[in-house]
Amino acid sequence: MTRTPYVAGNWKMHGTRRKAAALARAVAAAQGDTTARRCTVFPTFVHLDIVRRNLRDSTVRLGAQNCHPEPEGAYTGEISAPMLRDVGVESVLVGHSERRHLFGERDAFLADKLQAVLETGLEAVFCVGETLEERESGRTFAVLERQLGALRRVAPDQAGRLVVAYEPVWAIGTGRTATPAQAQEAHAEVRRLAGAILGADAAATLPLLYGGSVKPGNAPDLLAQDDVDGLLVGGASLDGDSFADILGAAAP
Ligand code: PEP
Repeated sequence: MTRTPYVAGNWKMHGTRRKAAALARAVAAAQGDTTARRCTVFPTFVHLDIVRRNLRDSTVRLGAQNCHPEPEGAYTGEISAPMLRDVGVESVLVGHSERRHLFGERDAFLADKLQAVLETGLEAVFCVGETLEERESGRTFAVLERQLGALRRVAPDQAGRLVVAYEPVWAIGTGRTATPAQAQEAHAEVRRLAGAILGADAAATLPLLYGGSVKPGNAPDLLAQDDVDGLLVGGASLDGDSFADILGAAAP
């Protein structure tokens, strides 16, 4: 089964308009018009427009880091999936560990969000992963199974717009990366669990990204794993040269 390599950059809460524009231009230049790999960047909401304009003429897609499950209403400070689509967003991160752990977003709320993104016709990058304590007590697979319960509401015609990112919480922003073998073991389990819910065909084509302290130096070994189809990059995506090297590792 061939799955197109996919590299995503989560810029988190960083940057100014000027920096975001410059980084977008650097990523667009590195990606060019290739379709040999997929690339999406996830700037802050306030930088979406300037980043969109600076990605022009490349195959880099525009993503958002979050959304609210409702299409509109009295939710001060929130932004909906249709609003994101309206400003040119094509993909949304759902369930990033910082949303789960710093902002208390629970599985049921994230399942609603996932549904909202897919119903809006956008791609969803659904993030899952265990904490260090969960790993050390042997609960990694149980946690993945619980988190992936959100996929039960994904309709067959929505599955093609789903991407899953395995991001062990202990590896995010810590400099401690999962070994390629640990990443492969977790990805194989994510694919198996997704298959049990979505069916074997959908699971076989489902892009699975690894995230957690990815750098140019560890990207090739992670990407060499059978079930690692791409990378979700945080810190290293803020440096144009590092991100370009990671793109090159995904497909020259
Ligand atoms: C992330 O934010 O999704 C992430 C993986 O961050 P980092 O690469 O910095 O660990």
